[in-house]
Amino acid sequence: MIQNEYLQRVYADLEKRNPNEPEFLQAVTEVFESLQYVVDKHPEWEEAALLERFTEPERVIEFRVPWVDDNGKVHVNRGYRVQFNSAIGPYKGGLRFHPSVNLSVIKFLGFEQILKNSLTTLPMGGGKGGSDFDPKGKSDAEVMRFCQSFMTELYRHIGQFTDTPAGDIGVGGREVAYMFGQYKKIVDRFEGGVITGKGLTFGGSLARTEATGFGVCYFANEVLKNIGHDSFEGKKVVVSGSGNVAQFCAKKCTEMGATVIAMSDSAGYIYDPNGVNLDVLFDIKQKRRARIKVYADEVPGSEYHEGCKNIWNTVCDIAIPCASQNEMDEEGAKTLIKNGAIAVFEGANMPLTPGAIAAVQEANLMYSPGKASNAGGVATSGLEMSQNSIRMNWTFEEVDEKLEKIMKDIFKACYDASVECGRPGDMMLGANVAGFLKVANAMMAQGIV
Ligand code: NDP
Repeated sequence: MIQNEYLQRVYADLEKRNPNEPEFLQAVTEVFESLQYVVDKHPEWEEAALLERFTEPERVIEFRVPWVDDNGKVHVNRGYRVQFNSAIGPYKGGLRFHPSVNLSVIKFLGFEQILKNSLTTLPMGGGKGGSDFDPKGKSDAEVMRFCQSFMTELYRHIGQFTDTPAGDIGVGGREVAYMFGQYKKIVDRFEGGVITGKGLTFGGSLARTEATGFGVCYFANEVLKNIGHDSFEGKKVVVSGSGNVAQFCAKKCTEMGATVIAMSDSAGYIYDPNGVNLDVLFDIKQKRRARIKVYADEVPGSEYHEGCKNIWNTVCDIAIPCASQNEMDEEGAKTLIKNGAIAVFEGANMPLTPGAIAAVQEANLMYSPGKASNAGGVATSGLEMSQNSIRMNWTFEEVDEKLEKIMKDIFKACYDASVECGRPGDMMLGANVAGFLKVANAMMAQGIV
């Protein structure tokens, strides 16, 4: 519940002006609930309409994306880029290609990105973009034509000192490469830092592919160690999703001594009591681009179940949702709690509904919000831009070491903020407050812009 009067007023106004944006309003509510702990100490914020400005994107771009399929049929999708906040650096945030993409989804992601990027300690503002295009089932040539058309509009709004996109759901190495190629052709400059997640032969960083998933585990390990006096060793873990974040999260927690017993895609989930064979999973998802169901057909002793939400019925110690927003509801969270889980770490952005977060916090489970635990992806995108600027490549080990340090620093910043607010160990509160204070200071210093 938001109790502070200033926050209540800003929120009521936001609700009135954005009635069709439930995901965006959900993300703001979650942040405002945390900011109650600091807003009273800063009456100057209200005078400067800081929170009104903080919740209004600096710029929203919406555009037509026409493209032609392999049979010559013309399709039209909608493209978005929300440039939310540039107080601490150029806008940065991924592009999502998924049929569920709309303005509300992109605004919630862009809003979360402001705080996440602030937590990384790197100079990056917040933005997000994407399209309701579905790459699933499309040929490489169709995906290329779509990406080229998308970039033919987007290029005029981005640049290494303006706005630097990256990947997200439905946008991996293939899509980033097509978009970078088109950008380079149009502007006639090899501007490496304009987009991250590039291939290794044209400015990409080693460990960027792994970074989000690895980072989730580095962060989770800090929570387990410092708050739970525990570790991944011997734990049974459920990782939802089977895309970029889920794959490398599963890999790292396996390396850290856990057994990943279930993973999913949007149609259903697999259960493998012997531990998911990641060689098989990677082959299915990265090479064959097939459904996760194929895993159960090929690996003896494993099972496939229809319905991705039922994955939370699996008895486990730790749950790491890595698929999409609101994928774990209150019922899912309560089932996990009943089955004895000790922790939920968010790999995806806003994967828990408000009811699920309340249930997890009430039951005193260890918990980390996505904006803290999945910040390793964008942090390593920042490291990719650093390498592009100095025209050098770091080794996998160098990047991985920097990533681990950043995740430990984020944990410390969140933990210290939670202590200062009188709620030690409340990572949601700590992440929101620590991320916000830096942006707030920069916005106050820069005047009314
Ligand atoms: P991918 O496209 O690589 O994978 C997404 C996975 O989630 C797939 O298994 C997909 O299944 C599943 N999925 C997608 N939408 C839904 C849905 N509505 N319900 C159930 N399952 C769904 O995306 P990423 O791994 O890159 O992203 C996953 C999450 O992590 C997102 O929330 C993203 O914003 C967040 N994130 C990603 C970062 C990155 O670096 N990639 C950085 C920080 C956060 P299917 O194949 O069937 O669609």
